[in-house]
Amino acid sequence: MSLRFELATSPTYTSDARIAEINVDPGFGVYFSDHMAVAAYNETDGWVNARVEPYADFAIAPASAVLHYAQEVFEGLKAYRHADGSVWLFRPEANAERLARSAKRLALPELPVADFVASVRAVVELDERWVPSSGEQSLYIRPFMIGSESFLGVRASKTVTYFCIAGPVGAYFSGGVKPVDIWVSNELSRVPNGGTGSAKCGGNYATSLLAQNEAYAQGCSQVLFTDAATHSVIEELGGMNFMFINTAGELVTPELNGNILPGITRDSLLKLAPSLGLTPVERRITLAEVYSGLADGSIVEAFACGTAAVITPIGSLKDGATGEVHRALIADFPKAMGLRALLLDIQYGRVPDPFGWTQQVV
Ligand SMILES: *Cc1c(COP(=O)(O)O)cnc(C)c1O
Repeated sequence: MSLRFELATSPTYTSDARIAEINVDPGFGVYFSDHMAVAAYNETDGWVNARVEPYADFAIAPASAVLHYAQEVFEGLKAYRHADGSVWLFRPEANAERLARSAKRLALPELPVADFVASVRAVVELDERWVPSSGEQSLYIRPFMIGSESFLGVRASKTVTYFCIAGPVGAYFSGGVKPVDIWVSNELSRVPNGGTGSAKCGGNYATSLLAQNEAYAQGCSQVLFTDAATHSVIEELGGMNFMFINTAGELVTPELNGNILPGITRDSLLKLAPSLGLTPVERRITLAEVYSGLADGSIVEAFACGTAAVITPIGSLKDGATGEVHRALIADFPKAMGLRALLLDIQYGRVPDPFGWTQQVV
């Protein structure tokens, strides 16, 4: 039986004036809308007690599994306001399926796809006023699931709580898209073989933060992680997938080898590639190949992709072992920007959606 996410208590309403004030410059992950969806799981009853509540702090036992053993998975997707005022989601079923796969890897119960989508729709519908309408703004939606049992023994939590929160976010690049400099980590790894690399879990982020600090210290803004065993094969960034375009007209990205998060932006760009005359290729990519491709000009554009920033062009890669900086020769990233514009046009309803990726909420 499907869960019904219905408002459990009286709603809270931030004034239109305050929302308008926030949406002038919402940033990312700073502000949250008025409501959140919640559901609980226990071994006897399965998923129960689905509801929508005012967004608020909640109590959690200090001995909760999530706080000690990081039993947590999450998702990230957006609601987009079209020019006619309607509000749309982009491929929410893909997020639902990924959350289910992540949950399985973290020994958490799977939330059925329909229930995930219902929770997202419930929050977006109720907090529709929070969906911004200018530029590349959107309502960022963050579903997540935690092991909530109060028990310090090491095993999967017998009680689990699912939440879906949301908040307005601004254009990721406020002053226009700018290429970023990337630190290539040669010591710290994101995930080992057989680890949780293909699951969207907080633990993967926790282990990436020290490398992220190294990147800042090196004057870079993101980390590119390589395989943990040899540090010679490219995997992905801390929270974005890696792609490049070559002179053969290929859009190339590392194949999903179990250590890479299967990004929905990644998948969408691979599917859009042919409409820009590019051939999508998923294969093993070595660091050496990318360095020489950047040097001889056979790699014309490199970029990172993910829901938050869509496409972030890579200006340079700074090698962690040698300190050498490998620069992209092209400064304006025409093909990456073309892909970016096409995906945004579909998300904001400015062009037809040939893949049936978008669904209307309001
Ligand atoms: C979420 C995430 C991505 C991007 O996935 P999208 O579905 O495109 O947003 C890439 N890598 C990691 C590690 C992630 O957590």
